[in-house]
Order: sequence, then C-alpha cells, then structure tokens
Amino acid sequence: MASDADTVFDLVVLGGGSGGYACALRAVDLGMSVALVERDKVGGTCLHRGCIPTKALLHAGEIADQARESAGFGVKTAFEGIDMPGVNSYKDGVVIRLFKGLLGTLKTRGVTTIEGDGRLTSATTVEVDGTTYTGSHIVLATGSVPKSLPGLDIDGDRVISSDQALVLDTVPGSVVILGGGVIGVEFASVWRSFGADVTIVEMLPHLLPGEDENSSRLLERAFRKRGVNFELGARFSGVHYVEKGVSVSLENGKQIEADLLLVAVGRGPVSEGLGYEEAGVAMERGFVKVDSLCQTNVPTISAVGDLIPGWQLAHVGFGEGILVAERLAGLNPAPIDYDGVPRVTYSDPEVASVGITEAVAKERYGDDNVVTVRYNLGGNGKSQILKTAGEVKVVQQNDGPVVGVHMVGARMGELTAEAQLIYNWEALPTEVAQLIHPHPTQSEALGEAHLALAGKPLHFHD
Ligand SMILES: Cc1cc2nc3c(=O)[nH]c(=O)nc-3n(C[C@H](O)[C@H](O)[C@H](O)COP(=O)(O)OP(=O)(O)OC[C@H]3O[C@@H](n4cnc5c(N)ncnc54)[C@H](O)[C@@H]3O)c2cc1C
Repeated sequence: MASDADTVFDLVVLGGGSGGYACALRAVDLGMSVALVERDKVGGTCLHRGCIPTKALLHAGEIADQARESAGFGVKTAFEGIDMPGVNSYKDGVVIRLFKGLLGTLKTRGVTTIEGDGRLTSATTVEVDGTTYTGSHIVLATGSVPKSLPGLDIDGDRVISSDQALVLDTVPGSVVILGGGVIGVEFASVWRSFGADVTIVEMLPHLLPGEDENSSRLLERAFRKRGVNFELGARFSGVHYVEKGVSVSLENGKQIEADLLLVAVGRGPVSEGLGYEEAGVAMERGFVKVDSLCQTNVPTISAVGDLIPGWQLAHVGFGEGILVAERLAGLNPAPIDYDGVPRVTYSDPEVASVGITEAVAKERYGDDNVVTVRYNLGGNGKSQILKTAGEVKVVQQNDGPVVGVHMVGARMGELTAEAQLIYNWEALPTEVAQLIHPHPTQSEALGEAHLALAGKPLHFHD
C-alpha cells in the first residue's frame, strides 16, 4: 500500500514526452515535488518515433548522397547500397543513448517517474493501475498519434504510418506518400536518398503548404531535380492491394502502384477515454483548450504539447512545459509568441522559417506595407562549396522590423538560431546589417539579405 508521501505531489504530469518531461524538470528545479506518469517510454514521440530517429535516417541519406556524388568533389568512393539493419542500429544507438541520458537526468534532478497507464479521475487526481496520485496541480501532456483518413485503414504492413516507416528493415522499391507536410516531405527525402521511387500526393497546391509559397516552390524544384515525384492539388480516393504492394487511386483518375503507402496526413491528440471531459476540461475536436499560458478552464489543470491546438513541435512542447512550471511557481512568464517559433523541415534541401509568410504579412499590414528581399544562395561562397541551391527570403514590415525569414538550402535549419533572434527582438534590417557575419559561412546569406533590405547590398543582384 503506497503512503501519502508516495502519492501526494505538488504537480502530477500525465505523459512523459517533450512537453511533460520539460515541465517536470523545470518544476523540480523550482522546488516542487513532481510525479511524471508515462505508459511507454519517457521521451515520447520525439525521442522514440519522431524527431531523433527521422533525423538519424536523414543523416544516413545525406551520407548515401555524398557517397554517390563524391566524384564531383574529386573524391573517389563507390556507393554500394544501403544496409538497413546497419542504418537502424546507428539510429537506435542514438535513441538509446539519449533515452538513457534522459532517464538519468529525471532521476538525478528528483522527478518521480511512475510507469503505467494514467487516467484523470478528478481535477486533482490521476489514477495509475489502481493507485491514485494527487497533485495540487495536474498537467496534461499525453501528446498525439498518427491520423488517417476516413475509411483508410493503416494495416502496418503495406499501408503504414510514420511509426512503422521508422522501423522498416529493407528499403522499399517504391512508396506513395499521402501528405506533403513536414513528415511526408522528410520521409520522401530519406527514401529517395536510399534509392526508392517516391511519389508524394498532396491535396493542397504546394508541398509544405504552411510555408511561404516561395519556399514551397524552391523545395519542389529541388525535389524535381532529385527525382522525387509529386501530385499537387490531388485528392486521394482509395487504395487496394495488388500482387506485391498497393495501388493508390486519386480523384483525378490517376492510379499509382507502389510497394508501400505511407499515410502522413497529420497527427491527432491522445485524449479519448482519459477522463478529461468527465473532469470538466473544455475540449475541441479532441484537443484540450487552453489560454495563452496553457491553463485550461479547470483552475488546477494545465495542458501542453501536441495535445493542445497549435504547432506540433518538440521545442514548442519544451517551451510550454517550462512556461507552465514557471507560472505555477509564481514567476509570471510571458505568453509564447507562436509566430516566433522556428520551424525546420530537415529534408534535402532543408526548409526553415521563423515569423510570418509574405502572404500573411500582406493580410496583416496591407499589400503596400510589406517589403521583401530574396537572396540567392548562388552568391554565397559556403553554399557553392557545399553545392547547394536555395534562397534566404526576408519579409519586412515597411519601415519597420523583420516579420519573417524563410530559407531553403542545405543546413538552413541551423540559421534559424539567428533568424529567431532577429524576429523575436523585432530587429530592423538596418540593425542586422551592422552585424558582421563570418566568411565563408551560410549565415552570410542572412547578413546579405539584410544588407540589401537596408539599402546597401553587397554580393547581391536581382
Ligand atoms: C516522424 C516525426 C518526426 C518529427 N520530427 C520533429 C522534429 O524534427 N522537430 C520537432 O520539433 N518535432 C518533430 N516532431 C513532433 C514532435 O515529436 C512532437 O511535437 C512532440 O513529441 C510532442 O511532445 P508531447 O510531449 O506533446 O507528446 P508526445 O511526445 O507524444 O508524448 C506524450 C507521451 O504521453 C504518453 N501517454 C499518453 N497517454 C498516456 C496515458 N494515458 N498514461 C501515461 N502516459 C501516456 C505517451 O506514451 C507519450 O510518451 C516529429 C513527429 C513525428 C511523428
């Protein structure tokens, strides 16, 4: 029988993914006693089925491409193929090392981790395998799982989600990917690098439809060059098994045969049957509704991460988790500016952005009050050394601060570190233009775009 000391906490966090464990760690640092309830493995989607394993696969793909293309750099290698068990053991090794590190961090920092399936049983209690844990406050952080379309059954064999795509032990000969968002685009990039024949089907007019249209077009151009096929503005109508794989039908009458269909149409919240509604928590389409400080309508309950509406990104979960812990500790944290969250698609080429698109800026400030500059990586020394193509596009409110940065090209994700400072500190192009960027780096492209916006272009031509 557990004693009160084992079951009563300042904070009980339900779900040990990015949002939940970040909240738990910050809360113990601020002096709270914290129970973190997890039914699978702490680290959640990001560590075990998301960010980390996909980026390991993408890196293996990059090495494969470099091996194929090495002669263009004067280096002789022979690309012999992909050894998927070898790729998987590299990928799993990365995950396991980080997982062990996280377990150690949670333990040494003093978070009590409770293994098991949790259910909210009141505004201050969570039940796990028959034991009730009480928290003065509860944080819901149960995350998300892959979604499908009505009538489309993910069988885990020929019709798969990202969960199964991450553990394939062979490279498929051909794949249809339903959905041209971040997850679909990243898997397309990996499988193409591994030698598969890939077709993305996207209902909207562009790949990565949430990005600035210029970025989508540049990605499409690069994918075309890499031999990634895509059907844009195309609706899925059905799939049936053929001898060795699947035949995917589109509403435009096209049929595409492939070994596999990856369904990457988004992720839905994990909230059903967990007692949220019964405890009075306001919900919307399965997501938990919160205010700008991640507080639900129930005063003792907050929610963070993929479970609440908004960007489904690990670093957003971290930020929200930290914010909730600080609010509970009375530190008065500022709400998150979600436009200021960096977004990266780690395909080849990478697509990275922070702030708002040109289209949104025009809606917000008026067509005549928005200025943009596009700096082509053709003029950037380091990008030429890497043989990458792309652009850095900066969106400015007329005579005002930078409101959006949109980048396409190899390694552009790293530049969000600077771009987010520019956006979030509401920098003027003239202020950024004063900063000297190291040569030769790709960060110079960001510097050059701001020099051009400030009216003093250096290596720039239209
Ligand atoms: C293929 C893929 C690639 C991605 N790549 C990136 C990327 O590069 N960068 C990025 O920022 N984001 C990426 N993401 C998104 C990122 O993984 C999520 O945004 C992040 O994991 C959300 O964190 P979370 O804590 O809200 O939820 P989750 O990570 O889903 O964690 C929720 C946890 O709660 C547990 N849980 C659920 N219900 C219960 C219950 N009843 N009792 C106990 N435990 C429970 C689950 O087991 C899980 O561990 C990717 C996602 C996918 C699928």
